[in-house]
Amino acid sequence: MAPQAPDQEVKGELLEDDTAPHHHDMEVREVDISLRRIIHDLRHLDWSKVVWRNAILFALLHMYSVYGLYLAIFAVKWKTIGFSVLLYFMAALGITMGAHRLWSHRSYKATLPLRVILAAFQTLSFQNDIFEWARDHRVHHKYSETDADPHNARRGFFFSHMGWLMYRKHPKVIEKGRNLDLSDLKEDAIVMWQRKHYVPVVLLTCFVMPTFLPWFFWEENAVNALMVAGFLRYTTVLHVTWLVNSLAHWVGNKPFDKSIYPSQNPVVAYLALGEGWHNYHHVFPWDYRTAELGGLVDYNITSLVIGFCSKIGLAYDLKTVTPEMIEKRANRTGDGSYVENAMKTK
Ligand SMILES: [Zn+2]
Ligand SMILES: [Zn+2]
Repeated sequence: MAPQAPDQEVKGELLEDDTAPHHHDMEVREVDISLRRIIHDLRHLDWSKVVWRNAILFALLHMYSVYGLYLAIFAVKWKTIGFSVLLYFMAALGITMGAHRLWSHRSYKATLPLRVILAAFQTLSFQNDIFEWARDHRVHHKYSETDADPHNARRGFFFSHMGWLMYRKHPKVIEKGRNLDLSDLKEDAIVMWQRKHYVPVVLLTCFVMPTFLPWFFWEENAVNALMVAGFLRYTTVLHVTWLVNSLAHWVGNKPFDKSIYPSQNPVVAYLALGEGWHNYHHVFPWDYRTAELGGLVDYNITSLVIGFCSKIGLAYDLKTVTPEMIEKRANRTGDGSYVENAMKTK
């Protein structure tokens, strides 16, 4: 049996007061983002629980990003575009390789220099500090699709995508989050340093630096740099990350466990550097590849980078799952699509 972090062993349990449809009803679910559904949801929303500060900040951020998109097409220098794409990859890796696969799941170990780089990249992504990110994510795995899941997909597509960040946490999220063992994070000096100095460090990394460098090195208009390399790039990484919690919990095959929401979604995998193989990931969360396969052709850039870091001695103890174990699990609880795929390649 492959090693596994202790607090990821228990699969989501249904809470007593959970009136949502049970697992066997899931196959008939469809992503409903119709206007009718949106109006229905808004009517039934408990407005007293809306976190208005975040809702206003997100509204502003999206307005700036639309303007950033306009500038990206018509106004900025090509160097600024290249720079923004580079920042996109760095910020995304900070999440996938850092906050997710390293700090939330401990699926491999990283040397001090690599941890410093990943913490810097994760700061660039501005998705809360590493400690908070990993705590929310561990509770998501342990209590998936229950009230204790911060972005419970049963509460709808929008809620699991970004609504959860604009709405007061369910008491169960706080309660269960408190009971998690986070001692490994508390012992990590880099994680705790980032948490302590988060506000100034995140503003410098996510907005000041992306504005200053293009202005200083290739005389880009500072406002244009802020809108494109700052806001537009930031918003893009946010949505790509959120797709893992929304779309990859709704659409895709379930070759490893058909009784859970997380699904194999190639589109999400492609955009989120390999994080869309979500049915596999929820079944085998300790695998550093978050998929049965890694590498470029399998839409898994993060695994490729971790593999490279391990070759040059920056990463070690990469955990995986044996093909036999994967196949056994697929035969036992999968929806049959794993077998189909295996037959096709024969
Ligand atoms: Zn995970
Ligand atoms: Zn998930």
